Amino acid sequence: MRDVYDNIVGSPKEQSDAVNWQKYENRSEEFGSHLSGRTLSHTPKTPVMSELLREIENESWRDCEKKGLPWIQKWYYPGEKEFAVFLSHDVDEIEWSWRRKLLMGVRHPSTLTNGKNHYWGFDEIMELERKHGVRSTFFFVSKSRHKRDPPYSIRDVADVIRKLREGGWEVGLHGSYNSFNNREFLQEEKEALQYVVGEEISGVRQHFVNFDPAVTFGLHESIGFAYDSTIGYREVSGFASGICHPYRFEGSSFYELPVMVIDGQLFWHEKKSTRGAIEEVERFLNTTKKYNGILTMDWHQRTVDGYTFPGWAEAYVESLERINSMNVFVATGEELLDWWERRESVVFEGRNVTDESVEWNLLAERKIDDFTLRVRIPEGSRYKKPDVQSKVKFQIAERDNEIWIRFSAIPKGEKIGVTMAR
Ligand SMILES: [Zn+2]
Repeated sequence: MRDVYDNIVGSPKEQSDAVNWQKYENRSEEFGSHLSGRTLSHTPKTPVMSELLREIENESWRDCEKKGLPWIQKWYYPGEKEFAVFLSHDVDEIEWSWRRKLLMGVRHPSTLTNGKNHYWGFDEIMELERKHGVRSTFFFVSKSRHKRDPPYSIRDVADVIRKLREGGWEVGLHGSYNSFNNREFLQEEKEALQYVVGEEISGVRQHFVNFDPAVTFGLHESIGFAYDSTIGYREVSGFASGICHPYRFEGSSFYELPVMVIDGQLFWHEKKSTRGAIEEVERFLNTTKKYNGILTMDWHQRTVDGYTFPGWAEAYVESLERINSMNVFVATGEELLDWWERRESVVFEGRNVTDESVEWNLLAERKIDDFTLRVRIPEGSRYKKPDVQSKVKFQIAERDNEIWIRFSAIPKGEKIGVTMAR
């Protein structure tokens, strides 16, 4: 639990040393079980494990407060963004089946002759996201093996995959129905997709949210994916692993970006209207913001078809409007993970506390852009403006009892010192 806490909160060791970890011992089994996907949280709408981490953070802050010491953390996202949204699209179908053609032909005769491919959706989504200045991740199936697998072949989508990549979208693997516990399948599917993409792919999400917690994620890691985004509920939107941040599986360097909101959960299972779905997304945005977390959304690209999915696309458009009105870092899974790992590689090398001052030393093991340190000052204690020892450009902003030190770009190997004199 402590590793996950340190990674997410981004504070120096001295601050988490002050936490009475024993006190949280009774929650650690639940914590590990949710994060590994062995059991899913019983409270879908509340990220219980993020709540717990916040409680621990508050304890660490109160300790500093009591001692009159400033409390520091590496801010979560670039540009002081409050939280993050990871937009994604699972590609399950790309055209109407003959059965649907007949059905729709009876209900809407014009669809028989207008020659439109109603499930394609890629161009509409690209246009929409371009207009909003955001990019997303498309998860494609590369081998259809099972009757529940998407009926398209990788050749059918090769051109659009290239177009997506050229425009800055990410392409990930949507593991076929039975690939979640089959190394051979997964390996083959990853390679087939990479052949088309022309480079290594980093993300994977299993079709139908299929996973075996004892097998799937280890397989994903050993085959060379950088992150998985499968842990989620089937029939309700929510925080299945109880947490709304990227996290590492125990003892591994592999990341999970859990998925919280899937279009089908809202419309089919929770029976939401378009308005209801938008309001639910809004609630998720606010909850995630509260914990400075990430919200992962999966809107299937075929839902641009208003005949089959009336109001679904509108809900996505409205959600993007809401997202764009907030102070949020919108990123593909790959971009989000890249940022998170760079933030992780800014390390605290120690804290010095004397009667006159508090001093922190940091080292950037990798280059990082637009990085911020947040310092909370206990009420009533007096500190001068921080003295920052660094060759790189920075800005200092004071807000209430907080000081924000924002660096435009820190090169690899750069050392930074921050001294707060009393
Ligand atoms: Zn799927």
